[in-house]
Amino acid sequence: MNAADIKSLALSHGFHLARVTTAEPFAGLEPLLNARIAAGHLGGLDWFTPERAHVASAPQRLLPWARSLLVLGVSYYADAPSMPDDGVLRGRVARYAWGADYHDLLRTMMRGLIAEIERGAGRPLMAGTLVDTARIVDRAAAARAGLGWYGKNTCIIATRDTGSYLFLAEVPLDLDLEPDAPLRKSCGTCAACMAACPTHAIPAAYVLDTPRCISYLTIEHRGVIPAELRPKIGDWVFGCDICQEVCPPNRHALHLAPPALQPRAVDDAYPALIPLLTMTVQEYRDRFRGRAIKRARREGLARNAAVALGNSGDRAAVPALAAALASHDAAHVRTHAAWALGQLGGHTARAALDRQRATEPDAGVQREIIEALSA
Ligand code: SF4
Ligand code: SF4
Repeated sequence: MNAADIKSLALSHGFHLARVTTAEPFAGLEPLLNARIAAGHLGGLDWFTPERAHVASAPQRLLPWARSLLVLGVSYYADAPSMPDDGVLRGRVARYAWGADYHDLLRTMMRGLIAEIERGAGRPLMAGTLVDTARIVDRAAAARAGLGWYGKNTCIIATRDTGSYLFLAEVPLDLDLEPDAPLRKSCGTCAACMAACPTHAIPAAYVLDTPRCISYLTIEHRGVIPAELRPKIGDWVFGCDICQEVCPPNRHALHLAPPALQPRAVDDAYPALIPLLTMTVQEYRDRFRGRAIKRARREGLARNAAVALGNSGDRAAVPALAAALASHDAAHVRTHAAWALGQLGGHTARAALDRQRATEPDAGVQREIIEALSA
């Protein structure tokens, strides 16, 4: 089978984009990753070490048998459900997490594709299914294969139909396939994403300061969110789409998401905040089993809901926040509930903070209560 046969097979298996690159090292990637690590731009991603950068920047260091990478893209762009006018305080979830866990879906699709490539090749192949192995490296493969081009927001921007709303995956193969050329496209003078980012997490073109990014803070980051960033998070409870929403090449993205990646209900895109703050372990498991949003864990989602409620300006949230401050099992959730009560203010919020101050066992929560009372 040649590269063209394999790419058209990939499209017939439901992938929206398919391109090929070699398995050779990505030129210049390792020093770039090390510079980002040294600058603290990958802070919080403790697994992203120089050793990891060394392996990740050369696919054959990980898979010595690999000759080519089949680089694949699946659009997750789905039309947004309409927001109900029901007076419920709601947060926002990034588009990519509106549906099922994409890792399972993409791996299943890739396994089916590999089986068919093997039938066509007439022999068993050495092949892998890489998805989210390291996002930066997924992007390097996609850029070199010409599946898309790097935007200044560090996303890969592909076609007019998909924009940057893409899951990327790679199938390394022990086949020598004709590689595709990179695209000759760039953002030009546009800098809309850099201007729109509420936390200034894109300090320079093509640089993401991960510890400031709402996507990192609401998903990967465990524990307390820096106080100065909380007001900038707004109503995001899982991820953030702002730098993609303002991106001109995304304006014409089509509703291409496979059914499993589409929202089933309004709460998948705009979850009610108070149930997120108060959910039990069992409720969390029942509600988010097999869903991408599960990655933030129950305590993370409760923490994020407290921040969004604090940013809502709506004192209807005070009783739920007061209950969370008094009884949530995770200290960092109580910390953010205290902060949110301080933001919302009023007599009931102050009384809840005063009550908890008398009994709170955790020193960090105590500090937050004192801050909230002085606010
Ligand atoms: S995802 Fe949000 S916070 Fe992160 S860089 Fe983009 S706009 Fe900024
Ligand atoms: S908003 Fe503009 S600068 Fe940012 S990624 Fe999109 S095209 Fe590039």
